[in-house]
This record gives sequence, structure tokens and C-alpha cells, in this order.
Amino acid sequence: MLLRIEDLDTLRCTVESADLLKEDLQWLGLDWDREMPPQRSRSAYYEEILAKLSERGEVFPCWCTRGDLKNAANAPHASDGHPIYPGTCRALSPQERAIRLRKRPGIMRLAVPDEVIGFEDGNYGRYEENLQTECGAFILRRADGVFAYQLAVVADDIDGGVTEVVRGRDLLDSTPRQLYLYRLLGAEPPRYFHVPLLTAPDGRRLSKRDEDLDVGLLRQRYRPEELLGALAFAAGQLERPEPVSAAELVKIFDRSRVGQADIAIRLPGEEA
Ligand SMILES: [Zn+2]
Repeated sequence: MLLRIEDLDTLRCTVESADLLKEDLQWLGLDWDREMPPQRSRSAYYEEILAKLSERGEVFPCWCTRGDLKNAANAPHASDGHPIYPGTCRALSPQERAIRLRKRPGIMRLAVPDEVIGFEDGNYGRYEENLQTECGAFILRRADGVFAYQLAVVADDIDGGVTEVVRGRDLLDSTPRQLYLYRLLGAEPPRYFHVPLLTAPDGRRLSKRDEDLDVGLLRQRYRPEELLGALAFAAGQLERPEPVSAAELVKIFDRSRVGQADIAIRLPGEEA
């Protein structure tokens, strides 16, 4: 079990918030074997990975704005709503590219093959996507130098020797892109197990605006065992929402009971 702080966006993620997060995990009784360096400290390593990906000539700088992409005639859209990159800057001549690069750095994108990339998810089964028609050339590094999640997460998982990834189903559709990066980097991908998301009682997706679920407040209202019991019950791991410790849960946890549907969370003491 590795702990990794994903703080690529150093404007939004502070060192203090990372410390609070670790304290919250420990309060719940969750622990880890090893802590990886935070992403904010790894630019040099990501730069190396980007250079390696660039060797095949499929990484290119792009100067298109969000507006350009939206206005591109008949631009098809991916399932998550983002416009599929029409390839505009890939077609620039080396001379034009050099002129533009002198003015300002571009977004670094990776061109993708017209090929279906799929995998067997431990919970959702077969998942596949044609990277070219359903996703398009994707971002590896933003124009401001911040590396994209897709690149950082694959680079870190390779470096950490990660063999198994359990994460929210909102990342299911990132997986084919990540598998393509593993292939280009010549690394063995991990096994994936995606889990349903917790939602508000009315089925709304939880967001930072749901302040009643802020761990700081939950810590004032519940003991860690009560909270874990409610979560474990909601996730099908307990017959009743009764207090349980993280160590006890490890013994009874059964992934075949996780399920695929999102889970509306109701906490102890809240009305139905
Ligand atoms: Zn472009």
C-alpha cells in the first residue's frame, strides 16, 4: 500500500493540506507501507518520461485555445464532453512550429493511433476505447509547464512498482490512455479494479461544496469506527451499519460484494 499525494496543481494543493489529509487517514485507521515523493517534487522525472515519449515523434506542441477547439467545424466530442482534438497543430511545418515556440511554449500533446485499446477491469469487466475516434490527441503537459494527470500517474506507478490500482469509476475512461502510455514506455501495466462512487442521498455527485461531508466536521460528529461502519454497510461489506475498525474490515472485506452502481451515502443519525 503506497501513499502518494497527487498535488500537480501546486496553486490549489498546499503542503499543509497534504499533512491534514494524512492525519485524516490515520484518524480513520488507514495506514500505508511506503510513502512516495509528492508529485510537486517530481518535475525532473516527468520531464524524462516526456522526453522518452517524444522519441517516436508523436508528441507535438499545440497552441489551440479552448475556444479554438469548441469552434472547430463539426468537431466530434468524446463521451465526457471534451472536443476531440482535430489535429490542427500536428499539421504545422517544422518552421512554423519553431517560430511559434520562440513566442510561447505550447501545450504538449500525444497523437494516438486509430486502434481500440481495452482491458479487463476487476469490477466492471471489459472496457475499451478507440483512442483516435473517442478520445483524440491528449495533453501530457500544459502550456504553463504543469504535467497532466495521465502522464504523472503512469510515471509514478511505474516508478513505485505498482501492480494493482483500486480507484473510482470516474477514472475508468482514463485507463485506455494510460495503457497506451505504458505501452510506449515499455512497462507492464497494473491490474485495475474500479469502484462505484459515493453520491449524496439524492444521487447527486459529491463535490467540495458538500461541506457536511468534510472530514474535519465528520471527525467532530463521529468516532472513526462509526464512520467506517456506515461506509462498509453502504458498500455491501456489513449486514448492518455497526461500528467497525479498519483492521477488522480488512479481515472481512470481500470485493465480489462491491457492486457496480453508485452508492448514495447516508450517515448515522441522518433521516431517511
Ligand atoms: Zn493545437
